[in-house]
Formats: sequence, C-alpha cells, structure tokens
Amino acid sequence: MKLFIQFDKPLDYFLTEAKNGRQFEYTLNRKATVKDIIECFGVPHTEVGHIVFNRKEIDFSFIPSSPGLLNVKCIEPPFNVLSPTFLRPFPLKRAKFLADVNVIKLGRLLIIMGFDVSYSSSLSDHEIADISETEARIILTRDTELLKRKKIIFAKRIKANYPYEQLVETIHFFGLEKQISFFSRCTKCNSKLVGVSKEKVIHLLEPKTKKFFDIFFQCPQCNNVFWKGSHFDNIKKKISSIGISIKN
Ligand SMILES: [Zn+2]
Repeated sequence: MKLFIQFDKPLDYFLTEAKNGRQFEYTLNRKATVKDIIECFGVPHTEVGHIVFNRKEIDFSFIPSSPGLLNVKCIEPPFNVLSPTFLRPFPLKRAKFLADVNVIKLGRLLIIMGFDVSYSSSLSDHEIADISETEARIILTRDTELLKRKKIIFAKRIKANYPYEQLVETIHFFGLEKQISFFSRCTKCNSKLVGVSKEKVIHLLEPKTKKFFDIFFQCPQCNNVFWKGSHFDNIKKKISSIGISIKN
C-alpha cells in the first residue's frame, strides 16, 4: 500500500537529506500505527504537533488501511503543556522537567531560573520514561531515540550545543518567559528557598560573606545557604545578554 508523506520543515532536523522538505512516497507492507511510521523516519512522536491523513486529523494510534497523504506537523512554539490538544488530551498541571544526563548544565540553569527540574547522571532510559509518567515531568534530552518511548508524552529534543543557548531554546519553546523566578530554588536539590535572617546562619558563613552581605536564603531540605553574591550577578548578566529578561 502506497502512502505519500510530508513532514513539516522544522522536522527536517530528524530526517535524512533525501526526505527533507518534500513529499515522498512510502510503501507500507505491514500493519503499523502512525507513531511507528513517523518514528521509522527518525522523528520522535514527542516533536509532532498534529497529524493529518487525507485531510482528517488523526492521533498516534491510527493505523492506515488505505493509500493516502500523511502530513506530519511540528509543535509550534510556544508549546503550552498546560492546555489539552488533540494528540495530548491530558495536559500537565504545571511545567516540571527532568534533564537527561546530556543536558545537566541546562537543568541547573533552569533551576536557577526557578523551574522545578530533577536530574541524575545515573538514570536508565527506562527509568527516565517511568519518571516522566509518574511525576508528570517534561523530558529534556539530546537523545532522539529516548523520545520514541511511548510513556514519554511531553519532551524536547534539545538542539543547541551550549547550555545558555539551550536555556534560550527551552524557554522560548515552552513559552516560559513569564514564569521565571530567578534564584528561588536550591541549585543542589531543587527545593524552594526560604528567606533566613543573618543571625540564624552567621555561624555557617565565611568572614567576607559575613562582612559584605545581609540578605540570605536557606534550603529547607539540605540546609544550604545562598546569598546574592558575585556568582548571582554574573549569571544574571549572562542571562540578560542572551535576551532573557529577569525582573527580580
Ligand atoms: Zn537544597
């Protein structure tokens, strides 16, 4: 059975050059879902925003039984994960992330921006898929194959090479600009920081920190103490220079 397939231009990234930006013919000799057909060309289902078969919107479980034209459309940013769509009828309650081992620095930057991000360097693909389901987390990764797992519904294949570029890529893709709450989470364990008086933590501070800073935050989980020192200013400057505005 012959299918004609056309992928949206932004999905070219995943396709072989021969299939880039044009409609091509595909002979389907097996009973296959649209998810399987799309992914056999290298495009993970998590990157797909709409699928149209012979002008009718379909979902990933659709099995073509007659010849026709399959249009595979990308997710148009900003991707609002809190809103139901035809392909993803059960949205997330809030945007939480899991950063794969290949984007751990991106994960840390997102925590500095106040987002709930878990990461570990020792999780298997199977465990990542399980966590994405049980904890309702968006997977951030540079591993395309990982994103073909059925349990992973919300994800982003990170394309930029450097952590600050990846941060811009992630914030723009999910439209997170207004949710930034700079320096509100513990960079060690992802818990929300709380304000703490200088007297309470003075015994934990280095002499210079004691002298120059008066406002402190502490992690209720791991007790780490934070203050808005030069590290804070440097990150803030760098983030402003790449076009992300921070109010607080
Ligand atoms: Zn902590």
